[in-house]
Amino acid sequence: SVAPLGSSVIPIVNKLQDIFAKLSSQSTIELPQVAVVGSQSSGKSSVLEALVGRDFLPRGSDICTRRPLVLQLLQTKRKPDGNDEEWGEFLHLPGKRFYNFNEIRKEIEAETVREAGLNKGVSDKQIRLKIFSPNVLDITLVDLPGITKVPVGDQPSDIEARIRTMIMSYIKCPTCLILAVTPANADLANSDALQIAGAADPDGLRTIGVITKLDIMDRGTDARKFLLGKVVPLKLGYVGVVNRSQEDIMLDRSIKDALIAEEKFFRNRPVYSDLPDRCGVPQLAKKLNQLLMQHIKAVLPGLKARINSSLVAVAKEHASYGEVTESKAGQGALLLNILSKYCEAYSSMIEGKNEEMSTS
Ligand code: GDP
Ligand code: MG
Repeated sequence: SVAPLGSSVIPIVNKLQDIFAKLSSQSTIELPQVAVVGSQSSGKSSVLEALVGRDFLPRGSDICTRRPLVLQLLQTKRKPDGNDEEWGEFLHLPGKRFYNFNEIRKEIEAETVREAGLNKGVSDKQIRLKIFSPNVLDITLVDLPGITKVPVGDQPSDIEARIRTMIMSYIKCPTCLILAVTPANADLANSDALQIAGAADPDGLRTIGVITKLDIMDRGTDARKFLLGKVVPLKLGYVGVVNRSQEDIMLDRSIKDALIAEEKFFRNRPVYSDLPDRCGVPQLAKKLNQLLMQHIKAVLPGLKARINSSLVAVAKEHASYGEVTESKAGQGALLLNILSKYCEAYSSMIEGKNEEMSTS
């Protein structure tokens, strides 16, 4: 379960990100978030869905994720009557609440087609989605197209390079945590995920290895060596998971059942019994939250300094315009002011001075 500090602090980060997005500032990507990287069909979208606990992402054996999806999870208060609501909202459809998660998936697919066409094209233009739920950790996740080698459909001949550049634009940011996803039935030493994560984060300070498909390894083999870091060492280590198979998806098996099945899988495999903190989606969620908090504490002073200096610059520009408060610069100054206040509140929260502060 989430540390109370985590659940009260991270909504502020999400607000900061919204403000940055409105300013169309580069900084949006430099705030702490979590991106999944790996080859096509390695299970990236499945891992994100399992972390969220709901079905709503396009998944499958073909290329499904064709635009970056920035997913903000926002924890809502549990209702006393038990009638908890969960819904999604897209930045491109402000005010429209999606209570049906199948509709969210359809909208992601439709919005993907609007920008990237019908024929397997890929675009680097983001889709931004918020999920409000009492059942999630507060965290921002980015689902990215997978690395693919051979162009198909409308993909240009340099598709691999383009996707690598797109992925790098997210994961090179020193605040981005990286989930490097490799299927257990592939050679970890040749993992695209670990290769690109290593290029962005050579010291391995913000890369978690995720091994998927533990259930479909060759008979007589297991993932112990991977999980123990004996094949490719990773400072932050690995977590092994079992997500739904294509058949499970076709049979409409729920994510809840899948999590129960995962738990049972590990319970029945003595080979993993001494590695409980490296097995299962709940462990991955826990690890992520801890890392995110550490990370936020580390980057906060720099973020504040940057905002303060932009604020000074914008205020100067604003002053030079005189009284025109409706101007872009005026709006920018206002937003940055709000940001700066958030940062202060946020620092004092981390120092434990103001844990009760409301985020609304
Ligand atoms: P992505 O392209 O990396 O986003 O991969 P997806 O999440 O779309 O998954 C690709 C395919 O692999 C889908 O058919 C999933 O059902 C299947 N898959 C993902 N994870 C697992 C797993 O742990 N076990 C099994 N058996 N299948 C999985
Ligand atoms: Mg995907």
